[in-house]
This record gives sequence, structure tokens and C-alpha cells, in this order.
Amino acid sequence: MSTEHIKCLIIGSGPAGFTAAIYAARAGLNPVMYTGPQPGGQLTITNDVENYPGYPEGINGPQMMQDFQKQAERFGTSVRYGMATKVFFTEDEKKVIIDETHELIADTVIIATGAAARWLGLESEARLNGSGVSACAVCDGFFYKGLDVAIVGAGDTACEEASYLSKLCNKVYMIVRREEMRASKIMQKRVLNSPNIEVIWNSMTDEILGKTEVEGVRLKNANTGELTEIKVQGFFVAIGHKPNTEIFKDILDLDENAYIITEKGSSRTNIPGVFACGDAQDHVYRQAVTAAGTGCMAALDAERYLAEIEVEA
Ligand code: NDP
Repeated sequence: MSTEHIKCLIIGSGPAGFTAAIYAARAGLNPVMYTGPQPGGQLTITNDVENYPGYPEGINGPQMMQDFQKQAERFGTSVRYGMATKVFFTEDEKKVIIDETHELIADTVIIATGAAARWLGLESEARLNGSGVSACAVCDGFFYKGLDVAIVGAGDTACEEASYLSKLCNKVYMIVRREEMRASKIMQKRVLNSPNIEVIWNSMTDEILGKTEVEGVRLKNANTGELTEIKVQGFFVAIGHKPNTEIFKDILDLDENAYIITEKGSSRTNIPGVFACGDAQDHVYRQAVTAAGTGCMAALDAERYLAEIEVEA
């Protein structure tokens, strides 16, 4: 296995990773980025991004991520395709194995591995993804202004997104698989008090209807098995996210949902020299712009950390 010693390794290539790369490269840390299995991250499966400042006409997700990459490479980031498969972190040494073939010893590591939306797993959901099916109401809700939509889920995210959609859409059906919601009482109350949100209890999504775009949803009653259909133009999935932090389990401090715990107001993890940014450590905001902001924080924290250990040496 080949070994390489570098100053700064960035794992992950979404807005957090690329922003960290831009800052780290401009600070002379010669960052090396490994993109992970989905180069560009979650935005590469989004169509139009209209809420990222600086793009008054909006931009499509894949194009935006190409621009991020170009900017990071312009300052000397080495962007490589590959996946971190194992990590060994101590205060004194940070070792990362890439695809079981390459070993990196890094003075600092910035983790920007992101999160992935959980999906229902229906064929129609995958086929209509981006054509009416979305896992982000804040990103895509605007395209359904004045239309009827459905959202599946019963946690805080589903309630928050249903409320968000209710302000834009004509009608929001909220599909809940049990006879109660998991969400906090206050979030539930907001949903139940919205005149244009209709909660459909005890219901599973049997199929999303439509050939090339969403036209409706077939629901199955969880108790009786009865099938019914509703007509909608948008279908939102809000059944939770899963941070991509599997390889850091037992090494970094993670919260009960496996998000990396960072020190308040910083990107520092429990291991000095290892920093985390973006959705891998944020289950609340989860926006491209907030991920980019924390990516910037991680690069600045890494730069300061290196300056401090150089002084100590
Ligand atoms: P949760 O895991 O809390 O909720 C997921 C929801 O999806 C549950 O209601 C679950 O149903 C439902 N679900 C799961 N699988 C399916 C399925 N196959 N079909 C239908 N429904 C399904 O995820 P959230 O993203 O809502 O929240 C994650 C964390 O983030 C929580 O701790 C939450 O409190 C927090 N959060 C806080 C916010 C805030 O404070 N403003 C905003 C958003 C999130 P069931 O209940 O039956 O298991």
C-alpha cells in the first residue's frame, strides 16, 4: 500500500468540502480532497438551486458543484476520486485509508461526508426523483406554488416541511403511517392548525403515480389494506436523514443519531486536528449555504491548529 504525508485532507465533496478546500488552498495548506461515492454530494441530485446567494437567476445543482470544484482547483486543491474506507485518529497521528489501496497520513483532517435522505424504496420514487419527487421542501417547494402536494413522514422535519409547504401550496396532504406523530407537540400543533394541511393517518405510500411526472399517490390503509388515491403534483419524502459517518463510529464522538459532535461555535471534534463540517454534523439546518459556512469554519480551524502546533514544535 502506498503512503503519502499531507497537511490537510478533506473527505467529501459537497458545498462544505469544497468551501473548506477553497479556504485551505488559499491558506497554503495544499489540501487533498477525496470526493466519496457521490462527487458533488446531494446537490448533484437537485435541479434548480434558487436559494444560494450570488445566483440571482438560480443555477442547477450539478453545474453549481462543478463551479465549486473549479474554484477549489484554481487555488491548488488536489481533487481525487476515491473513498475513505478506514480511519485511525489519535491526537498524534491521523491515518486514513483510501479504497483499501492508499494510505494518507494527514496533519489535519476535515470531514465533510454529508448525509443522505432516507427514501421509501419504491420504484416510482426513484424514477420520478427530480420530476415531482423530492426530499427537500425548502429546496424544491417553490416549484409547487399554488399546487397540491403530499409529504410523507411524521417527525419534526416532516412537520416543519409541511408547514413550509402550506405557505406556498394550495393543499398539503401529510401521510402518516401510524395513528400518532413522533414530532414534538408544538410542531404537531402547527400542522394540525393549518387549514390547508390534511393529515392522512394510518397510511402507507403504496405507489407514486405518473409516468414522467408526479400526478398522484396511491395510499394503503395500514389497518384495513384499503387502497385510495389522491391527486398531487409534488411528493416530498421527510422520513429522516442518515449522516455518512459510519467509518467514524467508535473513533469520534457521535450523537444518538450518528451525527458528529463538534464543539459549540467551532468545527472541532473530540480529536485535536480533526474537524467536521456540513450535514455530517448538522441535522437542523442542512442547507448548501450553511454547509459552506461550516466548511469555511473547518478550514480556518485547521489553519489555526497547524499554526499552534508549529509554534509548540
Ligand atoms: P425522525 O427520525 O425523527 O422521524 C422520521 C419520521 O418518518 C417518523 O415519524 C417515522 O415514522 C417516519 N418514517 C420512517 N420511515 C417511514 C416509512 N418507510 N414510511 C412512512 N413513514 C416513515 O426524523 P426527522 O428528520 O423528522 O428528525 C431527525 C432529528 O432532527 C430529530 O431528532 C428531530 O427532533 C430533529 N429536528 C429538529 C427540528 C427542530 O427542532 N426545528 C427540525 C427538524 C428535525 P414513525 O414515527 O412511525 O417511526
